[in-house]
Amino acid sequence: MRRLRSLLLLALAPALAVVLRLSARRAGVVLVYHALAERGRDPEGDLMRPHDAVVFEAQLRYLGSRYRLVPAEKLQRAVAARRRGERFPVALTFDDDLVSHARFAAPILRRVGAPATFFLCGASLDGPHAFWWQLLQRAVDGGLHLPVEGRDIHEVAERVESMSPEERGQVGEWLAQRVGPDPEDIGLRSEQVRELVESGFDLGFHTLHHDRLTGLGDGALARAMTEGRAELERAATRPLTTIAYPHGKADGRVGRVAREAGFRLGFTGRWEPITPHSDPMLLGRFEPAHDSVAALRLQLVRTLLRRPHR
Ligand SMILES: [Zn+2]
Repeated sequence: MRRLRSLLLLALAPALAVVLRLSARRAGVVLVYHALAERGRDPEGDLMRPHDAVVFEAQLRYLGSRYRLVPAEKLQRAVAARRRGERFPVALTFDDDLVSHARFAAPILRRVGAPATFFLCGASLDGPHAFWWQLLQRAVDGGLHLPVEGRDIHEVAERVESMSPEERGQVGEWLAQRVGPDPEDIGLRSEQVRELVESGFDLGFHTLHHDRLTGLGDGALARAMTEGRAELERAATRPLTTIAYPHGKADGRVGRVAREAGFRLGFTGRWEPITPHSDPMLLGRFEPAHDSVAALRLQLVRTLLRRPHR
């Protein structure tokens, strides 16, 4: 029944999109992509399934033809200014300092002429760095017996994510000693960060240590807003005034501390549309479907129809 319903919705999405556009609804959407790859992998066994570069480009071309692509910083203003019949504004964002951002995403974005914001941690400005989940993926792919229990890689990752920064650091070290970083993805260096800026893309902060901010005490939370930021701003040659919260997790306290630290906009992983009333420090985003343009088309329609979180 559910499958039938999704198939029906998928078939109706183009018509729904037309009807929606005729409405005076003031709403917009922020998308978040992570890694891109030339060819998709097994989705079940992948912690961070990369988007296939061909599907990604097709999705961008679709967005460019049916939606109004705007920089994330200008999205809420564009939402407030939207009139009946006009395209809905959509902003593209990218999280984590991934080599595929420079290798695949940036050239495709330039080709399509789409604006985008890259949220970076800055942990790899001077040398190779791998996030713990990248090491975990390599450990699982290599059949390593892990020190953390879990039914599958997703459950193990969930447990590691909810650990204290110290505990997680120990797991990271354990993994680093056994598998080492993927030579193909060891983060973005200062020069690559500068290239993104020179290509006209916006940069935002994603915190140096990528801790789940809602679990940090007040002191550690305040430190997360500033640690590593000056170094990244130096590489970017400009101040960073937007932040994407690691793992998409934030609450009122996190948003308040981010604002006090000088950020004007904060992005979560909450699946909801942006409206003129959305809290600028807690703006929702969602990850586009991996398989097709049609699936993204449906996601967009569903998001625009969704009632925003209060
Ligand atoms: Zn991240």
